[in-house]
Amino acid sequence: MTVTDATEVHWEAAEALRQADPQLADLLAAEAARRAESLQLLAGENLTSPAVLSALTGPLIDKYAEGYPGHRHHSGCALADAAELLAIDRAKQLFAAEHANVQPRSGTSAMLAAYAALLKPGDVVLAMSLQHGGHLSCGSRANFSGRWFDFIGYGVREDDQLIDLGQVRELARLHRPKAIVAGGISYPRHIDWAEFRKIADEVDAYLIASVAQVTGLIAGGVAPSPVPYADVTVAATHKLLRGPRGGLLLCSAELAERVDRAVFPFSQGGAAMNEVAAKAVAFAEAGTPAFGEYLQRAVDGARVLAGALAEAGAPPLTGGTDTHLVTADVSPLGLTGREAELRCAAAQLMLGKCALPYDQAPVTEASGIRLGTGAVAAQGMGRSELSEVGALIGRLLTSGPDPRIGERVRELAAAFGRR
Ligand SMILES: *Cc1c(COP(=O)(O)O)cnc(C)c1O
Repeated sequence: MTVTDATEVHWEAAEALRQADPQLADLLAAEAARRAESLQLLAGENLTSPAVLSALTGPLIDKYAEGYPGHRHHSGCALADAAELLAIDRAKQLFAAEHANVQPRSGTSAMLAAYAALLKPGDVVLAMSLQHGGHLSCGSRANFSGRWFDFIGYGVREDDQLIDLGQVRELARLHRPKAIVAGGISYPRHIDWAEFRKIADEVDAYLIASVAQVTGLIAGGVAPSPVPYADVTVAATHKLLRGPRGGLLLCSAELAERVDRAVFPFSQGGAAMNEVAAKAVAFAEAGTPAFGEYLQRAVDGARVLAGALAEAGAPPLTGGTDTHLVTADVSPLGLTGREAELRCAAAQLMLGKCALPYDQAPVTEASGIRLGTGAVAAQGMGRSELSEVGALIGRLLTSGPDPRIGERVRELAAAFGRR
């Protein structure tokens, strides 16, 4: 399907919505306008490609296909099977994995399935602590993970903010976890998968790679792949990959059946076949040269953003970034993360406050901000635009609100639009 076809389908559906529900249609139009007038620098956000959007609203949205290709609990699944097999084969090829499960509805449900495949309630799990960049699904008491498993948290060093592999090994030897989770939500550096594997082997633990944030970078070969090292890799298709909102599990052929059963029937019913189809599209797009160029813009852009923040007096954690992510400490500027977030949002720059490792401030205030370049790189921005955006953020943080900055951001957003 071409971009024009996809846009057409979307437009027709939008017209039907306007007829049926003008109230919600207005709300969505306002959201589209809000996005068009601002820059999305939230680390997990992106722009789905038009082809992905078309598959999402395509006919498979109505198909019930509980089970797996060839083993469904519903009739009329031959084409749904073909779409899912396409998604599975493309995922296996893109990530050089022996097995892929494309049914998880989100990153968190993929984590649930990974734990279910390998662990029993009460098992000890060693994962990056939430304060140091771990996700909710890495042991938050508010999440199933923290209630059903016994989590031990490792962290980053205070001086260079890099993962303290010495501490990981020490905690692994002390607590003998059943699984070690590597990866997090706001860690801007590549992860040493071989070393994590070594530590897991030393204590006979499973290794779970939690890479929702950087799935696109791994697909494009920009970040090292955990697939050869991890027992189960938990990925997401909606962040850097530009696919539909959803999760993805990769594992060895040996663990395939356990992983599949952990998704369906253990933790989900029928898969959203439109999302599965859209994942197939995203995997194909991720193999194109255009995707590689987009990733390069994202990573180059994040580097210049980190440099601009450093220059403004908000040091980026770990001194910079290897990815699309930047986490910076705004406390030297006398600001909290929340104040920085609000000030930027008022100038149409959408980024997030972020609690830092060893943060003294309450979580609701936080001392840091987190930015990601996925969405702006998808719009076509690269090094030079992000160098300007970084300078604008620096001015906002050091000199305070200035309406001219919001104006300039609107101009940039309009110039790039939705690519
Ligand atoms: C985004 C993310 C998740 C959660 O994904 P959802 O789809 O929001 O449930 C889990 N773990 C990591 C590391 C993530 O980056």
